[in-house]
Amino acid sequence: MGVSMRQVITGYHRDEAGDWVAQLACGHFQHVRHTPPWVNRPWVVTATGRAAMLGSALECRKCDEGAPPDCR
Ligand SMILES: [Zn+2]
Repeated sequence: MGVSMRQVITGYHRDEAGDWVAQLACGHFQHVRHTPPWVNRPWVVTATGRAAMLGSALECRKCDEGAPPDCR
């Protein structure tokens, strides 16, 4: 191991708390919060920013753990 599995963002939804969740090609979901100064993802706040990140890869820890796919 050492290098995390990277998975492409295929879409988004919001959780019950209104936080943005990225849907990854592997079937896992990953929160993409913008909570400065800890987590800076200003792109997630706007529709254009989110659209620009479609097709970009995020490291998926759930893949590293062999977790089953998430479902809504
Ligand atoms: Zn995954």
